[in-house]
Amino acid sequence: WIKNEGRNNFAAYDPTMEREYQDRRKLEHDLRLALQRSEFSLVYQPMLCARLDQFMGFEALLRWTSPVHGSVPPDIFIGIAESIGIMGPLGAWVLRTACTEAARWQNPLKIAVNVSPIQVQQGNLAETVAEILAATGLAPERLEIEVTESLLIRHPERALATLRAIKALGVRIAMDDFGTGYSSLATLRAFPFDKLKVDRSFVRDLCEGSESMAIINAILGLGRGLRLPVVVEGVETELQAAILRRCGADEMQGYLLGRPLPIDQFKTITVGRGATRGAAASRHHHA
Ligand code: C2E
Ligand code: MG
Ligand code: MG
Ligand code: MG
Repeated sequence: WIKNEGRNNFAAYDPTMEREYQDRRKLEHDLRLALQRSEFSLVYQPMLCARLDQFMGFEALLRWTSPVHGSVPPDIFIGIAESIGIMGPLGAWVLRTACTEAARWQNPLKIAVNVSPIQVQQGNLAETVAEILAATGLAPERLEIEVTESLLIRHPERALATLRAIKALGVRIAMDDFGTGYSSLATLRAFPFDKLKVDRSFVRDLCEGSESMAIINAILGLGRGLRLPVVVEGVETELQAAILRRCGADEMQGYLLGRPLPIDQFKTITVGRGATRGAAASRHHHA
């Protein structure tokens, strides 16, 4: 069997691998305790109506600040949370916290919450959403659930039933990261989404005559044909914003318009008047 192995990597003693394994174990262990230790928080990123130049709402984004591991990016810890079986309770915490916060705002802005495929497949997500809406008093029309198409791959029937039940509550469903999966168009036909969010990879190199430009235009055309508002994520420059406005993007989101921040950084938007871009932008400068 030594011959077959060839590269000697069967050796039990690889200190690097051993270390990585221990690190991962420690991360899993601490993540499992993070909810009860109140180490999670939400930041909020504004979504701007391109035509009115006004904020329509916020997307809630989860943050984990660990005393041991520091600030761990969601792209890393969410996958781990899913694999160790805590995404259900964690996702419910996100929904409850975001809805509680939004219910306090004087402006009836929208609140968008990302939901993991695991939450959708667990089957009781619609009940959880209904219970949280009732408990917080948030109007269902103000809540937007963001899902990625990956959720429709494993158990499409169950996922569709759950999404329909959530829609029946009056909550909107947005398809996140549109364009990055391998079956976006089929998914689009399989489920009546209320909104498309174009992945920011298409915005990065956006300029006249670029391939990204052609793709964005095609998605905007698709949105018009299907009567679905299209949000473009990852807008970082005035040039990108100008191009997107001219092409007819409905909503924009990105560092140019506002970084994800703790909600108290957006007081002017959430407690009345001043829901304009200028008001928020001026706050960012001393944030
Ligand atoms: P997403 O839902 O597509 O969120 C957009 C991501 O792009 C966020 O990263 C946001 O901070 C980042 N972003 C926004 N504007 C810009 C920009 O102009 N430039 C660049 N370079 N980035 C921008 P974040 O917060 O690190 O989240 C990453 C992903 O983690 C999210 O992608 C989402 O899939 C997931 N996630 C975050 N919070 C939650 C949550 O509460 N539940 C679940 N299930 N997933 C979450
Ligand atoms: Mg999202
Ligand atoms: Mg996205
Ligand atoms: Mg994403």
